[in-house]
Amino acid sequence: MKRQFSNVDYKSIPLFKDVSEEDWNNWKWQMRNAIRDIPSLEKVLPLSEEEQEHLAKTLKKFKMAITPYYAALMSKENVNCPVRKMAVPVLNELHIAESDLSDPLHEDVDSPVPGLTHRYPDRALLLVTHECSMYCRHCTRRRIVGETDEDMAKGHLEKAFEYIARTPEIRDVVISGGDPLILSDSRIDYILTELRKIEHIEIIRIGSRMPVVLPQRITDDLCNIIKKHHPVYVNTHFNHPKEITEEARQACEKLANAGVQMGNQSVLLKGVNDCSNIMKALMHDLLRIRVKPYYIYQCDLSEGISHFRTTISKGIEIIENLRGHTTGMAVPTFVVDAPGGGGKIPVMPDYLISQTEKRVVLRNYEGMITSYTQPSDYQGHSIDNCEFCSDDSLVAKDGVAKLLNEGGTIRPQAMRRETRTNGNGKQ
Ligand SMILES: *Cc1c(COP(=O)(O)O)cnc(C)c1O
Repeated sequence: MKRQFSNVDYKSIPLFKDVSEEDWNNWKWQMRNAIRDIPSLEKVLPLSEEEQEHLAKTLKKFKMAITPYYAALMSKENVNCPVRKMAVPVLNELHIAESDLSDPLHEDVDSPVPGLTHRYPDRALLLVTHECSMYCRHCTRRRIVGETDEDMAKGHLEKAFEYIARTPEIRDVVISGGDPLILSDSRIDYILTELRKIEHIEIIRIGSRMPVVLPQRITDDLCNIIKKHHPVYVNTHFNHPKEITEEARQACEKLANAGVQMGNQSVLLKGVNDCSNIMKALMHDLLRIRVKPYYIYQCDLSEGISHFRTTISKGIEIIENLRGHTTGMAVPTFVVDAPGGGGKIPVMPDYLISQTEKRVVLRNYEGMITSYTQPSDYQGHSIDNCEFCSDDSLVAKDGVAKLLNEGGTIRPQAMRRETRTNGNGKQ
């Protein structure tokens, strides 16, 4: 059934009923009026005394900010409302589970200059702000997000530009934060302009949740700035079909009409979207608003979010329920961002059942099992006279791909058997 997208009904909320349409649609008004304390939240949601007590405790450690727009999406009655769960702090956030880590993705460890993570050979992650318009309760960067941006002003960004400029392997910069689109138009223009001055930068990506939590931020002026710096991709973060409103649709349409390819990165969250059918509806709605589902992330091991975690199996189940059952473009890649800075590891159901040199046996989504007879005279691609194989920037220099190309071994750093033989293979 094709869902109807509707505008958020803010007039029904006493706190907002007298707000003019002009103010409501002004992103700066939305930011100024974000809900940051208990008295304001109480005017939007009925809070029990217990809830207030829990909130007060949690707010001592973690910040809250909810844009009026996103607050208007929360159910007033249902404490299990998915939007509410992503926005309203709970006491569970103070619980540090045994598996929790402060910087699970080693973003600070893999950082050659502050604010820049260079993990993969050809792309870098640039954090341009610590602030957001809405603080997601499941934030992976909650160790830093919410801090003020005084540090950023002190030339950190310029040092990051210098690093990128002297590192020709980097061809792709992912601008993230915080939410980069919280910055002023002129600051965003400055960042994009500086990056575009670097000749080896091919593509720029912006990671922003603004289309979801503050679609009013996607103004014509902003789109005109982004347009000047193409190719620019925007990846956003819808987690539930309820977030896809008429306002969100219009924001994504504006970006798409400005020539921006839109992608979506969801996080698999217990009690929010850990359901194949919710996910399928979300993926369908995303394609309708011209956003391509890109990733579903396993909830990572950041501190204070263990109440959101599912098993990895749940993600595999979701992919099983999407692949083949719906539009291929609606199927994102499910990834586990490896603790310890291993990067994103894709995980999916097994479709390959068995193989010989002659045949590969595969199964499809229906459970049909088929065999593919491989060519017996296949001669691998010859690297001689291939201009791409002689382009050093394209040839893998790490990992399993390097082993395939060149042979060799990758050894774990510390193996017990080496301590038994002093590492020389002799007893
Ligand atoms: C996710 C991520 C990227 C981008 O990864 P893609 O798979 O290319 O989208 C780059 N750097 C870091 C540190 C990341 O976490």
